[in-house]
Amino acid sequence: MSTSLVPLQVVVQTPAHSGVAATLSYTHTKPLPAGTLVRVPLGAREVLGVVWDTPGDGAPQAEPARLRAIAAVLQGLAPLDDAWRRLVAFAAGYYQRSLGEIALMALPPSLRGLSAEQLGRRLRRKPNAQTANAPASAPANADQAGADLIALSAEQESVTAEIDTKTGPFLLFGSTGSGKTEVYLQAVAAALAADAQGQVLVLVPEINLTPQLQARFLARFAPLYGADAIVSLHSGMTHPQRLRSWLAAHTGSARIVLGTRMAIFASLPRLALIVVDEEHDASYKQQEGARYSARDLAVWRARDAGAKVVLGSATPSLESWHASDPAVGRYQRLCMPSRIGAARLPRLRLVDMAQQPRAAVFAPPLLAAITGRVERGEQCLVLLNRRGFAPVLHCHACGWKSDCPQCSATRVFHKLDRSLRCHHCGLASRVPRACPGCGNPDILPLGRGTEQLEELLAQLLRNVITPERRAARVARIDADTTRAKGALQTQLAQVHAGDVDVLVGTQMVAKGHDFRRITLVAAVQPDNALFSSDFRAPERLFSLLMQAGGRAGRDALYMAAHGSAPELWVQTWHPEHPLFAALGAHDYPAFAARQLAEREAAAMPPFSHQALLRADARTQETAQAFLQAAALAARAAQLPGLAQTFLYPPVPLAVQRVANVERAQMLLESASRRALQQLMSAWQPLLHAERARHKGLVRWLLDVDPQAI
Ligand code: ADP
Ligand code: ZN
Ligand code: ZN
Repeated sequence: MSTSLVPLQVVVQTPAHSGVAATLSYTHTKPLPAGTLVRVPLGAREVLGVVWDTPGDGAPQAEPARLRAIAAVLQGLAPLDDAWRRLVAFAAGYYQRSLGEIALMALPPSLRGLSAEQLGRRLRRKPNAQTANAPASAPANADQAGADLIALSAEQESVTAEIDTKTGPFLLFGSTGSGKTEVYLQAVAAALAADAQGQVLVLVPEINLTPQLQARFLARFAPLYGADAIVSLHSGMTHPQRLRSWLAAHTGSARIVLGTRMAIFASLPRLALIVVDEEHDASYKQQEGARYSARDLAVWRARDAGAKVVLGSATPSLESWHASDPAVGRYQRLCMPSRIGAARLPRLRLVDMAQQPRAAVFAPPLLAAITGRVERGEQCLVLLNRRGFAPVLHCHACGWKSDCPQCSATRVFHKLDRSLRCHHCGLASRVPRACPGCGNPDILPLGRGTEQLEELLAQLLRNVITPERRAARVARIDADTTRAKGALQTQLAQVHAGDVDVLVGTQMVAKGHDFRRITLVAAVQPDNALFSSDFRAPERLFSLLMQAGGRAGRDALYMAAHGSAPELWVQTWHPEHPLFAALGAHDYPAFAARQLAEREAAAMPPFSHQALLRADARTQETAQAFLQAAALAARAAQLPGLAQTFLYPPVPLAVQRVANVERAQMLLESASRRALQQLMSAWQPLLHAERARHKGLVRWLLDVDPQAI
């Protein structure tokens, strides 16, 4: 019967650098369309696979009789379409990963574990997920709902018209509070009304921003398309929830998918629009495994699928800003400089720390300003990018520091549970009673984290009374206070309800939230970023401060009723730094112009393209030796693209050792994206070969378009 067997190429999950061919060959009794999900034997296991159309490089083309047979076909699921497979193939190629890794990463985890029968049952149990389309609604309804709810500002009106009539890609450059979300809603409404099966993908940088956004999307679109037509997709969901959302998107019953970066790989057969909110946010770049940029893939995917894409930000990435320069013209820039309802942007109050009492954590004028706001019933937000109580414990008798034994970093003192915790490897232990070096009982915290600021502020404001005649309340929101499920939502609800007067937090609270009563925002220690060795640090600081400032004074009516004006306070030792001048003028274009001029002069991104070759090893010497050898091998082989690519010498990472692994990297830079891509692809086999020669090498990896150098 072997004559009736059909050979098929199947993609399965393969470790990143296993050297396994891109696709494996199997047989089946009849041909299967590309994109069909199957279960196949792999070694002694049975795994999920996707039928692919073309044989991968070097796939063994054995006689069908000698190949193993597909174990099962996942019935009842339409094959993943060509567009999805093109996206996966592009991402694998561009980010230098295996097809199998990207394809399987792009599928919901619980699909991997389900047998064909189990999936069949799951699909039958959820009739919702199987219906091909949500109830189609007349476009007239959609228009009406959009129009009924809100009168667009003039800027929203004109920007919406542009998105309607032009093709993009669009960069929506709108101040904080200019009403960008409303523009997204309008664009979504138009896309859904134009195609009765059209689908929209909305990406946000953080899981914690999805509930507020989801509520707005539900309020707007559930009446039109049903609540089931709007689903979320992010890593905070349980596996069954993710599977349900994924199936809804794949079958077309979900018209709107809201998610974090992973959602870029959702199967969306009728994709009409992608929105990327806060497109500058670093969290769109995956920082481990396949290091893809969901924002960049969004632009690629939209173009490939003939969909529109809107990137939005008050402080766009310099890459996107440059691309939307009329002289470059790759993106279309849309501007909304004004805040909704005549709300004003916060005034910058720079505090020169050199003029303040020594060792003051809060400069007296800032403390007075916070006190005044709280006494008037307004809320304040205090920002510090470091959680814990103090970044290090120190013995002044012998110089002992709370170093992490496994990392080149200190362990952070958390006072609440009296622990020392390493934020790099997670190692935690109890605070020693006395100095482990000399027995001195007085070991002291050095520096400050959010935990300490909260404690200090509560102390400083203990006699301050609010208009409701109660004592001022200080609360903290950071990764430590929000570990429990739902904790963040509860804490944010308390802020929104006015139960908190001063909120202390990390950047987690600076982004996106639509606070209505915060009128003062303070950054107490932002200086580190001014002189960081990472060329993107100023860009990140500027956008963080703009974002944070954007949380103040968002509600024009509230501000008017209180006769209040919003302020952004910044404590710095370098008030003359030009970054602050641009910040004070709310002048992102001026800041961007200067940064871009510097980058152009130094031939840095976006005027060049970068990748990192990273090596992790038992010793720093081994890590660097691998990188040296890799560079030599590339030169010896005269790899394509090498002539147009500059290879920097290997260097240790800023945090050189983590969990007892030494880390080194080599920067690759080229004026030509193509040359850099060619080089990396050709390099892969040499890197595999080189690896075997370096005992003690733990791993190597390529990071394309790295965010941190
Ligand atoms: P952004 O995302 O640009 O910071 P938002 O979209 O959150 O701003 O809008 C800021 C606030 O203004 C929100 O509370 C929103 O509901 C409100 N808003 C937006 N557009 C309008 C409008 N046309 N009329 C009245 N309020 C609006
Ligand atoms: Zn000591
Ligand atoms: Zn550590």
